[in-house]
Amino acid sequence: MQPWESFRPATLERMRSGRPDFDRIIAMSRDARLLLDYLDQTGVERAALINYAAPDVMGFGHETNDFVARYAAAAPDRLIAVGGVHPRFATDPAAHVERLADAGIRALKIHPPHMLVRPESHQDDTPAGRALAAIYGTAAGRGLPVIIHTGTSVFPGARVRFGDPIGIDDVAVDYPGLRIVMAHGGRPLWMETCFFLLRRHPNVWLDLSGIPPKSLPEYFPRLREVSDRVVFGTDWPSPGVRDIGANALAVMDLPDSYLDTAAKTAILQDNALRLFPR
Ligand SMILES: [Zn+2]
Repeated sequence: MQPWESFRPATLERMRSGRPDFDRIIAMSRDARLLLDYLDQTGVERAALINYAAPDVMGFGHETNDFVARYAAAAPDRLIAVGGVHPRFATDPAAHVERLADAGIRALKIHPPHMLVRPESHQDDTPAGRALAAIYGTAAGRGLPVIIHTGTSVFPGARVRFGDPIGIDDVAVDYPGLRIVMAHGGRPLWMETCFFLLRRHPNVWLDLSGIPPKSLPEYFPRLREVSDRVVFGTDWPSPGVRDIGANALAVMDLPDSYLDTAAKTAILQDNALRLFPR
């Protein structure tokens, strides 16, 4: 759920063209009860609502954090607010992260292809680099997981090269106390890099959002080896993702030889509860 009225027209058009039910999504974004009804229907207990600022590429700015904090407050036991501080636009990034944590934001999303920053630019002696270091450091101190977008983006103005996850190695090395979630597993160009980082770093996690469950055995043939740090996700309502519950059932339907029941339960429930305790 995002504040759709602050999307750039071209971005909104890309969303709308991929979703015949887009008007219903808009209505849900204005009324949390409609989303909760949908979650009930589709058999999902809790949802993480991914927001971040990307004013020059996507249209929405830091006001998206106020939106998601207010939205999730309607049902804090079921809705997990994810917000973001933009390294190129934040004036006092450490204080900004503190304010978001105080407001109930449970995790931060960094979107390199939409923010136009490399994940490892915390090492750069530039304003954006120092800001990113402050964001990572403060998130680690407050126990907020940082979800980093990995892989491509289809939106106009996005820069795909920033989606290469290899720089997350530097983040994991420099912030061993920070839980880093690689969103989308580097799909479709960098899955091998993501799998390597998962095996190398105990503080690196993977979310399955944006990956069709049926393609998992092809993309991550050895997913079971890291299944203690993999969380289910869909990227719903992004174009092409029809239904959250259907994707969850599709994970359950994967062959036992690929993921046994314990691994599926971890991915669909237990790992998320470790990341976002009740
Ligand atoms: Zn993403």
